[in-house]
Formats: sequence, C-alpha cells, structure tokens
Amino acid sequence: MALLEVSGLRTTFHIGVGTVQAVRGISFHVDKGEFIGIVGESGSGKSVTMLSVMGLLPQYAEVKADSIRFDGRELSQMSPRELRSLHGKEIGMIFQDPMTSLNPLFTVENQMVEPLRIHLGMSRERARLRALELLHQVEIPNPEQRLRQYPHEFSGGMRQRVMIAIAIACSPKMVIADEPTTALDVTIQAQILELLENLKREMNTSVVMITHDLGVIASMCSRILVMYGGVICEEGSVRDIFYRARHPYTWGLLNSIPRIHHDSHEKLVPIRGTPPDMLKPPEGCPFAPRCQYCMPVCRRYMAPPTDLGDGHLVHCHLMHPKAPKVERGGLQHD
Ligand code: SF4
Repeated sequence: MALLEVSGLRTTFHIGVGTVQAVRGISFHVDKGEFIGIVGESGSGKSVTMLSVMGLLPQYAEVKADSIRFDGRELSQMSPRELRSLHGKEIGMIFQDPMTSLNPLFTVENQMVEPLRIHLGMSRERARLRALELLHQVEIPNPEQRLRQYPHEFSGGMRQRVMIAIAIACSPKMVIADEPTTALDVTIQAQILELLENLKREMNTSVVMITHDLGVIASMCSRILVMYGGVICEEGSVRDIFYRARHPYTWGLLNSIPRIHHDSHEKLVPIRGTPPDMLKPPEGCPFAPRCQYCMPVCRRYMAPPTDLGDGHLVHCHLMHPKAPKVERGGLQHD
C-alpha cells in the first residue's frame, strides 16, 4: 500500500541567467515499510525531488505537481506551516553532512529534546529520557555524557548517528536519507547503512535513500529509481536493475561499479561526456548526447515508459519493437 504517491512533479529554479528545469514531470510511489533507492549523478534531480516533496526548497524554486499524496493527505495543497508540522514528526530527514545540519551552538541534548517537546508535547525530563534511549538505539556509547556535548566533539560517523537519532525521534512514517554516507569512510559507511536497515526492520519505517552510488544500496533496497536529467529513466526491483537493466544510462552506472571478484587491473568504464545543461535540457532523451545507441528519434522525443512487468519501467526508444536489438555491452549479434 502506497504511503507516498507523487504524480507529475515539476520543479524549476528561477535564477538570474534563466530557469533551471531540475525535475521534469516525474511520477513514483513509496509503499509503507518499503526501502527504496533513488540513484543518479549530481544534478540528475534526485535530491531536488525529495526536497520538493518536503517543501524544503528556497523561495526562488517553483514546485508544481498533479498530486503529492502522503498517507492519504494532499501535500501540494498544504501551506508551508502545515508542511513544516510534518517535518520531524511524520517525515524525518538525514542530510549528507551532519555538521551543517546540526547547530554548533547547542548541545546534542538541546537539539534532540526540542522536537520531542514540540511534536509530541513531552515534558523536558521525559524528552531527555527518550533522547538517551535514542542515542542508545543508534549505538552511541556513554549516551549520558554524549548528550551534554556539542556537535564538534563528535566524529563524523557519530554525528551522522546523532542525525539519525533526531530523524527517528518521533517515530516518523518515512525517513529520507540524502547521501547519508558520502562524507564517511567505508567502515563507518557500512555501520550507518546497517543501522538504517535495522531501523526499517524494527520500526517498519519507509526509507528513501538518495545516492549516486548504485553499489551502496544493492543489498538494502527493494526498488530502485534511476534518474538522469530531471527524469526517471528506469525503475524496478533490485534484481531488475542489477540483472535485467535495459536503459543505456543504467548500464553505464553498472559498468562504473568496481567489482572485487574481478581482475584487480580491470579498468572502470566511465560514462563519456557531461550531464545536460538543465537551463536548456535536450528536447528529447536527456541522455542522447552521451548515448552510443542514440537514434534520430531520441533527439526529438522523450520515450514513453515501457512496462516490462512487475513494475519494471524503462523510458528508452530501444524498447520499441522496431528498434535495433541492443544488450549491455554492445549491439546484439544474431
Ligand atoms: Fe539512448 Fe535513445 Fe535510449 Fe536515450 S532513448 S537512452 S538516446 S537509445
């Protein structure tokens, strides 16, 4: 059952030199208790998509949508004040750099207790006990002492644990994690990912994980949305994306993941070219200038979604029955 249903989301930024078309008419859903991944390179629109849903973009952003339904309520009709009341209480957010999200002037206790008092009406003492419980849950040692400290007294991994504790403090229905491990080294990264997975399992919270690294989410997500140039180019289950991907951009992402079982001298295959200029996005498929299989139709029209079954959707003209038969790695030979 869908917790979040987004239909026809379009987000633009009006800046001095023109209008950036960051998200261009995307639709997707997140089921209750589901862990989904949104993958794509910088500028693909993945973070802007979720910030648009949350109403957290600056004033020069314009968000339009046919519908954004969250738990039966229409978010696109809500005032900024109503939207703010959902933040923390029903939707938690974990950002990439906890140092810029945590306030350096307040202790961790202050920053954890406030949302509990505001959203759940707890007394200071009850909120403090709950904060201790949460620090324990995210495996921070000496929670009593840690609660009294300031963010700069924590390591990067520990700060991210504090952010997670704040995000889940009010038992939200959905947590959005925006590149939560990018600034961390690989061992801490693995611990944070395990923590998120445990939280999802224990609290049945829906998690939307935004990342540029397909490898990071392979073992955790049930579904993956691949974004490029402000649109979703492919979506499906983890098996669909890793073993049955049909979009050339998804192939490019897969080819750039290092594989430990392969020859250590094997070269990674980068995706040639650069991302599109979103001030003037291509008329047709945004991946056309970088795609080795590009056909004349690709430059003029965006491909409609092709449903390959069980929610595996591909937006590519190669899915047309009359298109050349192509598979990952090159043209198919009969
Ligand atoms: Fe390549 Fe055309 Fe498919 Fe775009 S629609 S990914 S340009 S083949």
